[in-house]
Amino acid sequence: MTDAHPSVRPDRRAELAAGLARVRARIADACSAAGRDRSEVVMIAVTKTYPASDVLALASLGVTDVGENRDREAAGKAAEVTTAGAAPRWHFIGQLQRNKCRSVVRYADVVQSVDSVRLARALDAAAVAGRDRPLDVLVQVSIDGDPARGGALADSADPDTGLGPVAEVVAGADGLRLAGLMAVAPLGWEPERAFGRLAEVARGFRAVHPEAAALSAGMSGDLEAAITYGATHVRVGSALLGMRSTLR
Ligand SMILES: *Cc1c(COP(=O)(O)O)cnc(C)c1O
Repeated sequence: MTDAHPSVRPDRRAELAAGLARVRARIADACSAAGRDRSEVVMIAVTKTYPASDVLALASLGVTDVGENRDREAAGKAAEVTTAGAAPRWHFIGQLQRNKCRSVVRYADVVQSVDSVRLARALDAAAVAGRDRPLDVLVQVSIDGDPARGGALADSADPDTGLGPVAEVVAGADGLRLAGLMAVAPLGWEPERAFGRLAEVARGFRAVHPEAAALSAGMSGDLEAAITYGATHVRVGSALLGMRSTLR
């Protein structure tokens, strides 16, 4: 832990510390209920819509991983945080357009939202050109198989959006390292059903890619169920930072 940056107001830091204590307790309880070791689950603080000063406060409270879903916002925030002397791991978790890859590879440590072969190839080319080490990638999978909502399709041989083809391209890319899977529970699904289905997909995926063991699942509302079904990373925004004024 380090001292908070002077831009962090003490009352906001106290608020974030309280949120962090609550979320850490939920994660610890879920781990013990599931018979899992607490060290198996990484909490990613999803800081979208919140300022760099919140990232600095969270970093000073021991948060090591942060998540963002829009390139323009994330690029500026990452630069501010770096200038202030903090170095959390940045996870890009939002829908990514191919023309944003060159920007994202400059600040992201992990991209969790690769769901097509075309995107994987664009990200690889950007990573080879713009980084000195490979970029960690999680393939985003669709739990309900609805292609409209994003996510590669587990039971599909589609050459662009099938999980098999996407994972194969990432695994073979010089600029990328296949690290695992990411998913969002579909609206209207019971979390247990959604993450149970995801666990089945992850089992099949690991049989082919045993080195890619990360499973990013679970948000503020459903992190307990995700941990029950094997999540190694939970992505927590509103429970930590407060309700966002915009729907994202
Ligand atoms: C915003 C977001 C989160 C965090 O959601 P909360 O409900 O605020 O915890 C997690 N994952 C993704 C992909 C997101 O876009």
